[in-house]
Amino acid sequence: MGDFVNKIFKKNPYFCPAPFTSLVQDYQGRSGPCPYNSGCFDFSNVNIKDRWAAKSTVELQRQHLNGEKPALCQRCYTEEESGFLSYRQLEQSHLLKTTEEEINSGSYRAGAKALVLRLSNICNYACRTCHSLDSSLFKAEGDFYAKNYGDVNSRYVQKDARREFSAEEMYEIAKTCANAENIEFYGGEPLLNTTHHILLKDLITSGRSSKISLFYCTNASTLPSTELKVLFSQFKKVHFNFSLDGINENYHYIRWPGEWSKVEKNLEFYTRELPQEINCEVSFGVNITVSILNIFYLPEILEKLKSFFQESALHMTTVHEPRYYAVVNIPEASKKIIEDKLNSSRYREKLAGITGYMMSKECNPVIWKKFAVWTKKKDKYRHTEIQKYIPEFYNIIEQDYVAALDGFKAITK
Ligand code: SF4
Repeated sequence: MGDFVNKIFKKNPYFCPAPFTSLVQDYQGRSGPCPYNSGCFDFSNVNIKDRWAAKSTVELQRQHLNGEKPALCQRCYTEEESGFLSYRQLEQSHLLKTTEEEINSGSYRAGAKALVLRLSNICNYACRTCHSLDSSLFKAEGDFYAKNYGDVNSRYVQKDARREFSAEEMYEIAKTCANAENIEFYGGEPLLNTTHHILLKDLITSGRSSKISLFYCTNASTLPSTELKVLFSQFKKVHFNFSLDGINENYHYIRWPGEWSKVEKNLEFYTRELPQEINCEVSFGVNITVSILNIFYLPEILEKLKSFFQESALHMTTVHEPRYYAVVNIPEASKKIIEDKLNSSRYREKLAGITGYMMSKECNPVIWKKFAVWTKKKDKYRHTEIQKYIPEFYNIIEQDYVAALDGFKAITK
């Protein structure tokens, strides 16, 4: 952490560099300063070239400089209060390249250093904790829930067709890269998207690529195409951040319809062969999205992933929405068993923030019921059964799960 940041954090403990360094944009014009706030600004009617200087971007910057605690940033502050590392803290090391001089001179106004692009909603997975805005695969499933249970407004109903940034928009984005050092690609599944190749080619042609690092948040189901590998070689670095929320059977259950055996082979390729095929620095990281469905298995998941990655590359974030997957809403007796298991594992320290968050609030029984009902509905559509895919966890929650489904069973037969 630089001197400026040390200084500003002492003076202004709520300061975050993200509004000065990064801009998230999606294929619909939703935007924000960071992944926690990726859709807080509606820029659907703002030209791509004007978004960095838009009123809402500048107002959030003003609040952070003035020592305010912006309401938009509440998630970070809440996580920090419960002892969990927030995105603000986690990302400091690379976001905090913003220096006092850059803020004082105003050079940051020329454009974001980190461009975060949610390229499309096109995805080959429909992960349990995801929703239709981020995955086109929910289309048929959302329709099934609407038709069979009347869930016409659920997060699984596909309101938009398959969509992605257009070629024209990619050319526009290329014009906003004056300060760009990192470009991050999210989806959907970004490796299924080809329009972003336009941006990469433009950055190569304009001679900027060798100063830019690329970041892909991928589900590891897909390998980079031959064309992409050639393009990567013109950049400073490419980092793959794999979303891996489970292993073996629980991988399929959570990251449906993905198969762990295929992903495991892909991870072999990514970590052992790809660095030989690309002529730039390659690095890897993992994000485990921690939910009710996988918290019990975290020690085993971490242990397995360590056969591919350094332990320091394994990160965890917690699900907050929908609340029926948030670990705080596990019934109290089951929480105690999970807490004991995590605390007795060799990853006790690494998992302390997660355990602390789980225990920080009492389970809300209404939300727990929603967990049970949505689990049942998804199991029906996906031809899965919770007791078969995560049996050890099911044994712990069985009584509360069955009780929560009371009255619902009849309509799911
Ligand atoms: S404080 Fe948190 S929510 Fe706010 S901009 Fe920073 S990282 Fe995003």
